Amino acid sequence: SQHDAEKWVKGVCRYCGVGCGVLAGVSKGKIVAVKGDPENTVNKGRLCVKGILLPKIMDTKDRLLHPMVKKDGQFVKVSWDEALDLIATKFKEAIAQFGPDSVGYYGSGQNIAEEAYVANKLFKGAIGTNNIDGNPRTCMASAVAGYVSTFGEDEPMGAYADIEQADVFFIIGANMAEAHPVLYSRLVDRKNSNPNVKIIIVDPRRTRTADIADVFLQFVPGTDLALLNSMAYVIIEENLVDKDFVDQHTNFMQGEKKLSFDEFKTFLADYAPDKVTGLIDLPAEQIREVARLFAAKGRNTMSMWTMGLNQRIRGTWANNLVHNLHLLTGKICRPGNTPFSLTGQPSACGSIREVGALSHLLPAHRVVANPKHREEIAKIWGIDPAKMSPKPGYHTIELFRAAASGALKVLWVVCTNPGQSIPNLKPYREGMEKTFMIVSETYHPTRTSELADVILPAALWMEKEGIYGNGERRTQHIAKAVEAPGEAKPDVWALIEVAKRLGFGDLFPYKTNDEIWEEYRKCTIGTKMELPPYDRLKKERGLTWPVPDPNGPDTYIRYAAPYDPYVKEGIQFYGKPDGRAVIFARPHANPQEVPDAEYPFYLSTGRVLEHWHTSTMTMNVPELKRAMPEMYVELNQTDAGKIGVNDGELVKITSRRGECQLKAKINGRGQPRPGMVYVPFHDTEMIRMINFVTIDAFDDVSKQPEYKICAVKLAKA
Ligand code: SF4
Repeated sequence: SQHDAEKWVKGVCRYCGVGCGVLAGVSKGKIVAVKGDPENTVNKGRLCVKGILLPKIMDTKDRLLHPMVKKDGQFVKVSWDEALDLIATKFKEAIAQFGPDSVGYYGSGQNIAEEAYVANKLFKGAIGTNNIDGNPRTCMASAVAGYVSTFGEDEPMGAYADIEQADVFFIIGANMAEAHPVLYSRLVDRKNSNPNVKIIIVDPRRTRTADIADVFLQFVPGTDLALLNSMAYVIIEENLVDKDFVDQHTNFMQGEKKLSFDEFKTFLADYAPDKVTGLIDLPAEQIREVARLFAAKGRNTMSMWTMGLNQRIRGTWANNLVHNLHLLTGKICRPGNTPFSLTGQPSACGSIREVGALSHLLPAHRVVANPKHREEIAKIWGIDPAKMSPKPGYHTIELFRAAASGALKVLWVVCTNPGQSIPNLKPYREGMEKTFMIVSETYHPTRTSELADVILPAALWMEKEGIYGNGERRTQHIAKAVEAPGEAKPDVWALIEVAKRLGFGDLFPYKTNDEIWEEYRKCTIGTKMELPPYDRLKKERGLTWPVPDPNGPDTYIRYAAPYDPYVKEGIQFYGKPDGRAVIFARPHANPQEVPDAEYPFYLSTGRVLEHWHTSTMTMNVPELKRAMPEMYVELNQTDAGKIGVNDGELVKITSRRGECQLKAKINGRGQPRPGMVYVPFHDTEMIRMINFVTIDAFDDVSKQPEYKICAVKLAKA
């Protein structure tokens, strides 16, 4: 308990992208309690139920304590040296015989930045392949592509502090009450303290978040582009456009082609509320009402969204269209006015987007295809730029396809569980089994470690120090509080040991995490995303980049004076050569699958409050397991009646790719609209793993898969 703690050590919650500051109470070498850090501005002392129970994920029965190697189909305990030598031999053989692109790495938005930086350097710099991707591809890639295409730079311009300044909230495709609980509590506080605050929630499923909605739009899945265009139509038709802002700060584009304002207006003609009301299944007047509220003069409007928009084959476009609404109304880059994408993982921004640990990126928002970017990074890495490939490597789905086809010979998976989380799992699990797979994990067995050839025991959370970057550009340091059990080691140590065995030891001379960070920090200088020094992060409660002066202030709002140190006056979208953001003409397009006679229901997947991702951590917490022991299929009364199931009865869910059996939950904590069912994706039992059913179609810009929508049939099992 808290009373037993001998000391309190500063860290960040291990779970979601909110990035709550924690204090871990340590006694006799164990973390015995966790409390919210009252000095951290993100959560001001609050935590959700998962955060409070963090100590229970540490010393679990399934902790992996030693390296293991599969021999004759059985995992056997081996020494670190044996495991690392074997890994190095497999890498060398594959590279010698099939070239550097025959090996790959799959990382995580839960890695600390130092791990991701070292992995990126090892693969892209030393080995010479860009086959390094990570689970943020399945989570945030469309938000990245949305920000980059509209503003020329990734990541939000605003911050959580906008919540206390906004009085209209437009929340689409996000169930904050369960997926971002502490941020949701800030939203609830804002609403309770100000009677003028209006909250618009847009979701095909009535969620707990919708409980505080003033307007709740339960639209047809996959019609978000039509809805957002229709709102833009109303904003223009009813003269709610901020003309001066649009003239000074935007361009209209359709693909590569520039449009005039009138041409954009003509493009939107198809989206008049009367014309889309049937498709979206919302009254035309309600679309108008929401557009007026969004655009109301004298009000501050903040949009928030997450997987509902991102996990779509048109996820990038959906992101562009939210940005459009803010640009048309000028509700951007001022306190309380911002399009703000919510992040799923604790360091998807810090460790993947900023470090550049996706197959097309390099550190500090650079890209592999740009020769100047390669040269700049090669210089810092101390390598010949010719060693770096200009060709983007495999993105997530391609990476696992390559494992299945045999093109990928060696795959190292670190801090993530693709054997449960990749959509259309069956062929990809077969691929993981086929390729030589190394899995760095805290627990065993998981749905990925069971398919591995080598498993490396990983230090967890505050058993090591490191940096997390949350969803508001906030970089935060986690101190080491306790020793890792058994032979578990930080992933960065294992990466460097393998690098040494591959003959690249010179490139990885680091003795401490500070040294890794300070090298990485050099990559950020001059990029307008300067990160603060390690020393400062150890002391302070996180800083939001850019921090161009290592001892100077951090940045609340980007692109706008007086907040952004790179803007002298007014607003400047400096990611674009002419300083103007883009308002895109993007037409509605159907999702990859729409229900038909054979597969008549929409399936959507997501989270519940009690569990996190593949639940390897949260199912180890007795309180969370008791509260939510297994996942279910949520459906509404009408559909339950149609297929003749009662609450708690088993339902078989079948798609073109696979099937699953889950108990029916009717009138659960959420209510999908008729014709739609919802399944949380956390369950570890094969029969309940919904990703055997989901679709692996992906957005052709962001390469993010369309987890959120596919067509299924239902039957009583
Ligand atoms: Fe952790 Fe997210 Fe809960 Fe905060 S809201 S305590 S970061 S899981």
